[in-house]
Formats: sequence, C-alpha cells, structure tokens
Amino acid sequence: MHPCLTCGACCTQYRVAFHWMESDEAGDGGVPAALTERLDGHRLCMRGTYSDPIRCVALDAQIGVYSRCTIHPHRPSVCREVDASWEHGRASDQCDRARLAHGLPLLGADDWRWRDAAGGGRDPDDGNAPTVDLPPLAA
Ligand code: SF4
Ligand code: SF4
Repeated sequence: MHPCLTCGACCTQYRVAFHWMESDEAGDGGVPAALTERLDGHRLCMRGTYSDPIRCVALDAQIGVYSRCTIHPHRPSVCREVDASWEHGRASDQCDRARLAHGLPLLGADDWRWRDAAGGGRDPDDGNAPTVDLPPLAA
C-alpha cells in the first residue's frame, strides 16, 4: 500500500500557499477557493494551514492510521511537489520532518518494495492533473 494512505503527516506541518490562479476562481478544475483563505493580493492558502496547530481543512485522516486528501485531483501544486521519502529514489526532507513530528518512522527503500513488485507506476490520480509552473510557496 502507498505509505501516504496511512500517514497524512505533511498535511499538518506546512503552510500550503499558492497563486490564486490555481484556484477554481480562475477556471474549472482548480483548487476549491471555498477551502482557502487569502494571504495577500496574489496568494491563497489552504484553510487550516495558516494557523497553529496546522491541519489542512481538506485532510481526512487519523495520522499514522489512514489518510486521504478530499480534493486530491484538485490539490495545489505545492502538495503535488512533496515527494514521499524514497518514492523516487531519494529522501524527502519535508516528508521526513513531518513524519518525525508525529513520531512515525522515516520511510526507506523497503517501503516501496510493493510498488517495485507490482511493476512501478504513478499515482493514478496524477494522470489527468494539470501541471502548473509556479514556484513552491509552502514552507
Ligand atoms: S509525510 Fe510523507 S508519507 Fe506522510 S503523507 Fe506526507 S509525503 Fe506521504
Ligand atoms: S490540499 Fe490535500 S494534499 Fe494538500 S495539504 Fe490539504 S489535504 Fe494535504
């Protein structure tokens, strides 16, 4: 099973900010603007990620048990850019820090054996995802 499906930690650690043009205010299929708040003249952020504690409003999870993004096909570009550690052959600092914050073990290459055994493959939801060439703003 994909490790993110039993995690969700990174959706509780970082501010998820992005250009408003990624939202559905700019066109169908964008990030639901109703789930965002405005940061400034150009940027929105996911509600719940500009507060303390952080927890994205779109997250349906019990961290470490199950997790799903309720807007997965329409999630912001910064979310798409967070790799799970060793998903693509290297560690991910954002993933590692988020999992550590929840006391979860860091992922290693062994956590991807199931995928290698199945012949690899991408996240199916990413197949029709729009690509947005904007700099990452989450930190
Ligand atoms: S912290 Fe890592 S394993 Fe957990 S949901 Fe985020 S990317 Fe996936
Ligand atoms: S939009 Fe989805 S992937 Fe991004 S932080 Fe929120 S729950 Fe996580």
